[in-house]
Amino acid sequence: MSAPLPPGSVIGILGGGQLGRMMAMAAGRLGFDVAVLDPEPGAPAQRLAAHAITGAYDDPNALAQLAAVSDAVTFEFENVPAAAIEILQAQGATTAPGGRALAIAQDRLAEKTFLNEAGAPTVAFAEVDSPADIVGALERLGRPLLVKARRGGYDGKGQAWIEQADEAEAVFAAAGGGPAIAEAPADFIRELSVIAARGRDGEIALYPLAENHHQHGILRRTVAPAKVSPRTLEQAERIAATLLAALDYVGVIAVELFERDDGKLLVNEFAPRVHNSGHWTLDGCECDQFEQHIRAVAGWPLGPTHAIARVEMTNLIGDEVNEWPRLSGEPETRLWLYGKAEARPGRKMGHVNRLSPLRG
Ligand code: AMP
Repeated sequence: MSAPLPPGSVIGILGGGQLGRMMAMAAGRLGFDVAVLDPEPGAPAQRLAAHAITGAYDDPNALAQLAAVSDAVTFEFENVPAAAIEILQAQGATTAPGGRALAIAQDRLAEKTFLNEAGAPTVAFAEVDSPADIVGALERLGRPLLVKARRGGYDGKGQAWIEQADEAEAVFAAAGGGPAIAEAPADFIRELSVIAARGRDGEIALYPLAENHHQHGILRRTVAPAKVSPRTLEQAERIAATLLAALDYVGVIAVELFERDDGKLLVNEFAPRVHNSGHWTLDGCECDQFEQHIRAVAGWPLGPTHAIARVEMTNLIGDEVNEWPRLSGEPETRLWLYGKAEARPGRKMGHVNRLSPLRG
């Protein structure tokens, strides 16, 4: 294992959105510089970067530039082609996390299959390559089913519920008309997530669980630490530790969970990166998820993850960001703005962390 990267080293980041920007801020605090590759010039993280590289994620020249200036490379965005990681590694770059976690997380069928093989429970599911496969899945798994595109869907896009076999053609089309997965309903009472990290030496650190509320398929609000039973906590910890070890992972991972009324947790999906449901850690934990990720990527010891405040995190979506003058004056509210020029509907423009004392 190579030595920890000293301050002054350069961390390369694939993706220049808000997650990359907050990673860059954390890296800067530890004395690192960042190099950011993004297809769009002036992306939020690029504006904080010592090296801003503009190009497609699979552009060999752009990847070569990134590899040349970086001492380690990570990503903020899981739709980076897994081939980009291979190209970087072929050029001698150290990457964390590795390409395997990325490749699995990009394909819902591979992801659910991997989760089950690793011993992490999910809903029942079936592979779908045609409307006829959906009809077969309805016969085997019951109804309704949620049909999701295998690749590229996010924030609830490329998904449709099916009740009746005669809707199979329309639902197949609504889920993108290509390779898909049909899932049984999760019947959850709550959506939770666990943010966890694994260092280069295999050390694991877990943050307290977060409770997540979505609206129109987009994360709206996170409350953390979530009130959970010891059994729920124990399941979440076991699931996260199992995945980190099975993936031989280095960095921060987010695992989205469904909590059922019998207390059982199911894994919805994992994101091989820092995550919106971990933004509460910026103000609620001693070492936030972004610093934690940079520490892991740089081969440093992991930081402490316990909560120092209760946080309600609310995303500022679209023109809600125009509320910044009021929000910036609210006591106990920490305002995070991402520096995006255009407030398009549905676009995450910033978030607020509202702090209150930890109870009990
Ligand atoms: P996903 O794109 O897989 O993260 O799903 C987006 C949202 O859809 C989740 O946060 C859940 O609210 C809901 N959802 C996803 N899968 C299921 C399922 N199998 N059963 C019920 N709801 C689901």
